[in-house]
Amino acid sequence: MAIKVQLSKNTSATAHRILLCDKASSYASFLSKEDAAAAKAAFDDKQPMYQTVSGGKSTTLVMLDSSREAYKQLEDARRAAYNVYKGLNGRKVAEASLESLAANKDLGAAFVEGAILSSYQFLKYKTKEVKPNTFLKLAVNENTLSKAALTELEASTAGVLLARTLVNEPLSYLTAEQLSKEIQKTGKEAGFSVEVLNKKKIEALKMGGLLAVNRGSQLPPTFNILEYKPAKTKNKKPIVLVGKGVVYDTGGLSLKPTPNSMDMMKCDMAGAATVIGTLYTIAKLKLPIHVVGLIPATDNRPGEDAYVPGDVVPMMNGMNVEVLNTDAEGRMILADALTYAAKYKPEVVFDFATLTGAAKAALSGLAAAYMGTADAATKQKLETSSKNVHEHIWELPFWEEYGQLIKSDLADIKNVGGSEAGAITAGKFLEHFATYPWLHFDIAGPAYLLAEDSYRGRFGTGVGVRMMVDFIKNY
Ligand SMILES: [Zn+2]
Repeated sequence: MAIKVQLSKNTSATAHRILLCDKASSYASFLSKEDAAAAKAAFDDKQPMYQTVSGGKSTTLVMLDSSREAYKQLEDARRAAYNVYKGLNGRKVAEASLESLAANKDLGAAFVEGAILSSYQFLKYKTKEVKPNTFLKLAVNENTLSKAALTELEASTAGVLLARTLVNEPLSYLTAEQLSKEIQKTGKEAGFSVEVLNKKKIEALKMGGLLAVNRGSQLPPTFNILEYKPAKTKNKKPIVLVGKGVVYDTGGLSLKPTPNSMDMMKCDMAGAATVIGTLYTIAKLKLPIHVVGLIPATDNRPGEDAYVPGDVVPMMNGMNVEVLNTDAEGRMILADALTYAAKYKPEVVFDFATLTGAAKAALSGLAAAYMGTADAATKQKLETSSKNVHEHIWELPFWEEYGQLIKSDLADIKNVGGSEAGAITAGKFLEHFATYPWLHFDIAGPAYLLAEDSYRGRFGTGVGVRMMVDFIKNY
């Protein structure tokens, strides 16, 4: 359960108060003389926060630096919210109020966003020593956050938290078929349509990549089509979002070493979670944009009929792929989804995938790598959205020479390009199937964090949802 936010005319009566300030804010009237002097001394000393507690009541002042670039101020506010949240929750506070005295009117929304995202917990499997958060109510002054901004934040943060929960669910619950059920449930709740193709239909469509990866599994694959199409749309043709839905990746016969790289492989459907969270949010907000989500889903296992290194797989678009590593399975299932996307004649296609260790090695958990064929204006808009929500993305080169690295002697292309430029050769593989403007986001780094990083949390982060919602909102 996440913190519930309520707008309120008067927040002065609450026991615990949070005040957002900048250098010019007159906070003294909220404090005793001694506290005001101590707060000033703390802020002069460049401390970002001052807290005073008396008689069970606390006042927390957050000092934000208005000389920083606008997008950095927003991120400062989100991160401050995490610190304040953890502090008050640690003291078992149930409720607090928030008021912004800062000149920058966007800081209140950013702080609230940070607080909601910081309050997330995944406790489903705890039966003992359950420690649910206590701090679950935040009364926000009407001057600090507008009704419209709150509605938007509630939908977007719910989309992020949904994506986190899907990532955090283990394979013992979240099989491909269960993922489809979750998508159907989400579609009903938010207002988008869902069609689930079963194995028979996937066979009829000749999705050879998805079927090859599924061969080693006891569990059937699914192919999920999510469509949000409001009556009036700004775009003539849809934006298509493709998400990698490998609900668990053992590597297949090219088995991953355990424990270090297999322990977290339930997160290999984080791209699918990004797409689901985004569709949820834009449908909830009734944004006037036609968006389709495509999610191929399966686990990747070394069962007795598993596809083998050396196999040639006929893909949905008619190409033959030589499989030289069964652990490079994400691109095999994404390729068929990208082929399927062409039938919509999309304006643009974005795919999200925890695709390569190489992307993570290059950028860490801090950023997603991206590359592809969409025009500079689209990339520019994405960069702006990325900055607005502080989800870092970084473009990798996509020179055609990299395509040489996946040439196959036996078939048309092979599914791995060797030890160098692994994130890029994965993208080059996908390019063969994307016959429209397209960008590929490799979220292997930021999708799943082993150490808590402020409001981004620990484990599933739901990365990509906030960026895509911002992009679609401003489309
Ligand atoms: Zn893999």
